[in-house]
Amino acid sequence: MPNMPKVIKGFDEETTTLSYPEALEEAGRCYLCYNAPCREALPAKTDIAGFIARMRSRNFRGALRLVKETNFFPGITSRVSPYDQQCEEACLRKIYGGPVRIAELERVLAEYDRNSKNPYLPEIPESIDKTVAIVGSGPTGLSAAVELVLNGCKVIMYESARIAGGVFTKGIPSYLISDEVIEYEVNGVLELGVDLVTGINAGESINLVSMKRSFDALLLAIGMGVPRKLPVQGSEKGDIFTGLEILESLKLKEKRLRLGENIVIVGGGNVSLDVTAALLKLGIDTVTLLYRRDREHMPVFKSRYRLAEEMGVKIKFRTVLKEIISNDQRTITEVVCQKNELKEKDDSQQVVAEPIEGSEFTLPADTVIFSIGQELDRDLVEMFDLETTEEGRIKVDPETNQTNDSFIFAAGSCVERIDTLVDAIARGQDTARKIVRKLLEE
Ligand code: SF4
Repeated sequence: MPNMPKVIKGFDEETTTLSYPEALEEAGRCYLCYNAPCREALPAKTDIAGFIARMRSRNFRGALRLVKETNFFPGITSRVSPYDQQCEEACLRKIYGGPVRIAELERVLAEYDRNSKNPYLPEIPESIDKTVAIVGSGPTGLSAAVELVLNGCKVIMYESARIAGGVFTKGIPSYLISDEVIEYEVNGVLELGVDLVTGINAGESINLVSMKRSFDALLLAIGMGVPRKLPVQGSEKGDIFTGLEILESLKLKEKRLRLGENIVIVGGGNVSLDVTAALLKLGIDTVTLLYRRDREHMPVFKSRYRLAEEMGVKIKFRTVLKEIISNDQRTITEVVCQKNELKEKDDSQQVVAEPIEGSEFTLPADTVIFSIGQELDRDLVEMFDLETTEEGRIKVDPETNQTNDSFIFAAGSCVERIDTLVDAIARGQDTARKIVRKLLEE
């Protein structure tokens, strides 16, 4: 049977929220530990025992206020951050009937707020007469904006996309979280008085000299915006996408992609699993994920792997893509793969994957998706003449997060490896505090 192209479209969220009686029962299981280890295990350092204590006394608004002091996006993070590997993993109730379901309790609070006639908004303090520009409106930029406003700064945020949110809006499949939840929490930042300018190509539209006249500081929270593609033979023609392009096309309804039915994905991180799972949900069951090492080396959240496994994801471990074969019409017909062997590198316990000579085999394919990470958008970095690290990120002073130009601060994955959304949020908040400290010193 010929391969029928499919137009991909969005999904409905599949997560459910505890009822209030269920949430109160779950909150009742918490020991309200002094020096709670759950708090230490969460990058945002949310006062978990504190918010659960307020929930127990039916003070949901007070509980939400406490959560939002460290994490302005509980509806999002409680759905997609790996709490089971962070705060819930550290919970002292773990061996007595399982950890307290902290993520689910946070989600109840977020839903309580979203359904409220009078949603919670923190009080804005008196102005300190400082204005900060932020480039990038993903989790780091947004949480920095909140913290700056709550410290009396005026904030203007620049975003290259049509809508704010970065990975919140473009990179999370809607079966994990609905667009409404994301929209609600992102809009909450704008309601604090943050000005947003969208559709801006910072590399072309932002002039540093005029910025220095108009603002007291500039924060770059631009992430690693350019998806990588493997430079294998044949990768210059045919239907070749990146994992983020697929997720974005699922999220932003005007960006539809046409995919074939024999899809090969190259990757091994959360995005590659999300893309594989999303395609399986669309009914495309001939999706094969190629990963160059073994399961235990995959940098993925346990919950995401479990979900993908339940959906029947097919992974070829210790396998790399060697070549993409297309016909005369530039249509992909198959891919050549090669098996790897894993070897320990010297005494460093690092495992390296080495191709096995003669182990090549072919797979039928009409679409190839690369999901092998992103790199820094060099345009802005070069335009602002910023120093970068060997790893290809923006170099900052770790004490202040200032770049080699003291007017420009940087935070988030453009500066360091960030594994979770809660990490990204925590970095934004932390850097905003450093900016305020610097501005007040002047
Ligand atoms: S460690 Fe567990 S039991 Fe203790 S405060 Fe945190 S959630 Fe409650």
